Amino acid sequence: MKQFKTESKRILDLMINSIYTNKEIFLRELISNASDAIDKLKFISLTDTSVISNFEINISMDKDAKTLTIEDNGIGMTDKDLEKNLGTIAESGTLKFKTENAQKTDNELIGQFGVGFYSAFMVADKIEVYTKAYGAEKGYKWASKGAEGYTIEEIEKDSLGSKIVLYLKADTEDCKYSDFLEEYKISALVKEYSDYIRYPIKMEVTRSKRKEGSPDDKPEYESVTQVETLNSMVPLWKKPKAEVTEENLKSFYKNEFHDFDDPLKCVYAKIEGTVTYDTLLFIPKRAPYDYYSKDYKKGVKLYCNGVMIMEKCEQLIPDHFGFVKGIVDSSDLSLNISREILQQDRQVKAIANSLEKKITAELKKMLEDDRENYEKMFAEFGLSLKFGVYAGFGMNKDKLKDFLMFYSSKKEKLVTLSEYVKEMKDGQEEIYYACGESYEKIAALPQIELAKEKGYEILFFKDGVDEFVAKILIDYDGKKFKSVSEADFSLDSDDEKKELDKKNEEHKGLLSTIKESLGDKVKEVRLTSKLKTYPVCLTAAGEVSIEMEKVFNSMPGADGKMKAEKILEISSTHKILDTLSKVYDKTPEKIANYATVLYEQARLLEGLNIDDVTSFVTAMGEII
Ligand code: ADP
Repeated sequence: MKQFKTESKRILDLMINSIYTNKEIFLRELISNASDAIDKLKFISLTDTSVISNFEINISMDKDAKTLTIEDNGIGMTDKDLEKNLGTIAESGTLKFKTENAQKTDNELIGQFGVGFYSAFMVADKIEVYTKAYGAEKGYKWASKGAEGYTIEEIEKDSLGSKIVLYLKADTEDCKYSDFLEEYKISALVKEYSDYIRYPIKMEVTRSKRKEGSPDDKPEYESVTQVETLNSMVPLWKKPKAEVTEENLKSFYKNEFHDFDDPLKCVYAKIEGTVTYDTLLFIPKRAPYDYYSKDYKKGVKLYCNGVMIMEKCEQLIPDHFGFVKGIVDSSDLSLNISREILQQDRQVKAIANSLEKKITAELKKMLEDDRENYEKMFAEFGLSLKFGVYAGFGMNKDKLKDFLMFYSSKKEKLVTLSEYVKEMKDGQEEIYYACGESYEKIAALPQIELAKEKGYEILFFKDGVDEFVAKILIDYDGKKFKSVSEADFSLDSDDEKKELDKKNEEHKGLLSTIKESLGDKVKEVRLTSKLKTYPVCLTAAGEVSIEMEKVFNSMPGADGKMKAEKILEISSTHKILDTLSKVYDKTPEKIANYATVLYEQARLLEGLNIDDVTSFVTAMGEII
């Protein structure tokens, strides 16, 4: 007996004890696996003529044994495949799974993982898989009663493919598992969830028929049993658009991409132009748990005339739209196209270009007509779009800049850059932003207070990548980005500027003494008119902002050498200036302590750590 990997065990427990109401979805999961397995063998059959081609999926029930069997003649599994595919789940997500999902409900968890095969444990307490893989000598049987583990043994099997036998659970008050032994139930489920599966799903069906030749006034009936195909087999994307409903698309998505949630957006398009193809595209409601990790594989399913040639064709989707799932079927491609050829294939490139345009157009429409869902999309995948702006030295920035959203201090919700620019105050020449870890922390920045009071809108940059995005964009609609923490950020009129210069001149001695005592920690110490209630703030001159210093230094392997050129600014209107002046006049040697305290306070306000705790505490003590 082999044990399931720990994380698989958790999923299994979840399935076995599931209170998930939609238990019947196990059938579409198994049928979808069978169909995928046939897709793979069908692809091989293009080059290996010894492979039989009457591909089909068979369903049968045994009421006495209480078993439901789903059999395919697809690619099958070797003993290694069984071990890998049915002994493990969510391999790469182990750590994340444990930490991030502690509070999730069953349904959310079931939803987040493609728990396909395991879902059968919602209805069965024992499962057997009989299988023989293409190219293998032997067949194998995998069996499991769930939690205890599983066994794999060699068996004799002639035909290729897999047979899954489910031993259904005993009926309970909540669920009549024996329904799954009824023809009507299975036909209805296949019709509902798996109608467009491209291979026939067959089952023996018994119908009562009028006996031939029986008299009209005294008709006699007999039971006739025959094998019937339960599904219509037309792939959804081959149906005329008028016949395809939003519901069809949603259920197709859930089935094909193993998501338990409806997608946020479905697109069905038949494209004709330089290239011709049919496509179904979907934006998921939630980012997959590994979306922002290296493990995530983007791509759409690629078909050539209804034959699947690749599960995930990454060339077709740019990284910034990596969250889009879907299917592309084109007759312009060559069937036996290989992965290497695919890289350079002109047709593939043309489809990729066209797809990107299509997705861009759909997002634009969504932003204009369906703001609520657009914002939901942005909450999940906005980072992906931002990385897209930043990646490759900004080569895609013009395509993506209109899709970005940032939190506005004024509207207290997300706005686009174009909305920001439209609302700029008369005479405002730049797009103002402020950085910090959270909206609350940004709102508490000293520099924000006065700007807000004067009626300026400020964009809050909360994600580490935001400021990099602004630097790459340089400007939007001719308006440059300006951080409120930049040294030359000023809302003063020319007269006010002159006034400030005068004050700086008056306090020259004090300011340079503070600068001297702080040494290299700051580049300059000066007075500012941009603060309201706070006495001090730190701003940055030069290319590296304080936020960038934080981001860089939090990266693995950072040596702490990346430093912003900081300027300590003291409020010209705060009473602290009088106090400092007096101290400076009477006991200039004490200014050093004040300088230390002010500097460390300003760091804290910017969200930086105290630079030197000992000297801070000592200076504080001296002053008190
Ligand atoms: P998913 O289908 O989302 O990958 P499953 O748990 O349903 O997850 O299946 C795991 C893997 O087991 C599949 O990816 C496939 O490789 C293999 N598998 C499942 N069912 C079959 C089958 N009927 N024939 C061949 N391989 C199968």
